[in-house]
Amino acid sequence: MKIKIQTLVELQSTEIEIRRVEQALAAAPERFDAITAERQGLTEAVEAAEAHLAALNKRYRELEREAREQQDRAAKRAARLHEVKTNKEYQATLKEIDDIKAVVLGIEDEMLALLDTIDEAKAGLKEKEQDLADRDQALREEAAAVEQAMEEDRKRLEALRLRREEIAGQVDSALMSVYLRAQVQQRDRRALAEVVNAVCQGCHMNIPPQLYNELQRQEQGDLKICPLCQRIIYWQNEA
Ligand SMILES: [Zn+2]
Repeated sequence: MKIKIQTLVELQSTEIEIRRVEQALAAAPERFDAITAERQGLTEAVEAAEAHLAALNKRYRELEREAREQQDRAAKRAARLHEVKTNKEYQATLKEIDDIKAVVLGIEDEMLALLDTIDEAKAGLKEKEQDLADRDQALREEAAAVEQAMEEDRKRLEALRLRREEIAGQVDSALMSVYLRAQVQQRDRRALAEVVNAVCQGCHMNIPPQLYNELQRQEQGDLKICPLCQRIIYWQNEA
């Protein structure tokens, strides 16, 4: 077989690029999920703040109604004061009216305190709405960017796969089977490794000096294998 090491080098670099693009495409759904989760989190925070504010407003209206009812009761008692027959009954009714007024005061205190809490809740809601508004645009842009990158990656992958077929077509079939065999043996799917200063770049170990000499002579038709990692090794003359 005729060794066209440069063709194999190009084949491998094309395959590495194909895997890189495939990984980028595979990672895209995760990025979409992260964007969706962030927007959902911000939306839920707004909804929680809205619910909190609504509950406080509801409580305020309840207290308002309660105060009104108590005031009505006091007014009815007061209206009946002229109907009472005895001083004892008069005093008892006055006491009752005072008691009701005390209850009303208590309710009004609670309402005042609640108004402060409602103001805080309104500010909190505004803050959450702002957080959502601030991030929403950025998240939309991010999602659009992921979409665009995916589109480009798909086109690039298509071109790379065609290029890979083209290069593979130039490789002698016997050499190709050696290449494919070496490839499946490697965890990183790299069948080829350059040797630089007698060090195999696949396993980072020194190859025997004799082998290094042979490699540098670049005898055609003679395939060299790293004795440590079993990759097909090659040497490039820097000069
Ligand atoms: Zn090696």
